[in-house]
Amino acid sequence: MCSGRVDPEFVFRAFANGMDGVFIGGCILNECNYITHGNYHALNMVLLCKKIMEHIGLNPDRLRVEFMSSGEGNVFVDVVNDFVAKTRELGPIGEAEGISKEELASRLAEVRHLIPYIKQVKSDKMQARLESKEAYEGYYTSDEIDKLFSEAVSYYIDPEKCKACMMCGRRCPVEAIDGGKGLIHVIDQDKCIKCNTCLEVCPEKFGAISKIVSAPVPDPIPVEARAITKGE
Ligand code: SF4
Ligand code: SF4
Repeated sequence: MCSGRVDPEFVFRAFANGMDGVFIGGCILNECNYITHGNYHALNMVLLCKKIMEHIGLNPDRLRVEFMSSGEGNVFVDVVNDFVAKTRELGPIGEAEGISKEELASRLAEVRHLIPYIKQVKSDKMQARLESKEAYEGYYTSDEIDKLFSEAVSYYIDPEKCKACMMCGRRCPVEAIDGGKGLIHVIDQDKCIKCNTCLEVCPEKFGAISKIVSAPVPDPIPVEARAITKGE
């Protein structure tokens, strides 16, 4: 219903599925029928995705957003025809950029893995209503995006502090936390999508979870040492 519903995950999933281009059509900016103005969000999201595409070596012209009213069938036909023609000129995704299929799959997988984190880190910036082309230009910089990837955080449960209350394991959206009754909990770093939920729900009195930035995560405690004995 609304272009504001288009998530970066939809865009990168389409590319991962071999689509050569992604087109998003939204209502004219500032003419939202409701109060949400989700099309500004769509624009902002596209600008962010384009920078991420550059970061992983993809031509950002493979992604386009255009705004038009439902009465402008002629505009829709023109922009879609133009987009299809330009995408054909670009050639097959990855191949045209000199990236092998395997490498492209791996780069897209890394981006998709980090999308919840990226959305969280950029949430304030994503709310902005960019009113002019000048405001779009440079809204997200290459340095900012490079940093986003190089300084991605990790989450760690301190085995000395975890009291096995199980809150984090219950709330983790991707079942990345291994634990159970009476067991020190451990985060599976490969599964973790860095959503920050566990840090928010771990009771303050335990404070067992920390965010690690640009540093290695300590090895997980061995399975045989995870049982919490009474009094600990
Ligand atoms: S940050 Fe915590 S809750 Fe979120 S995915 Fe990672 S382990 Fe799960
Ligand atoms: S919420 Fe905190 S104390 Fe509870 S199991 Fe998770 S890490 Fe341990």
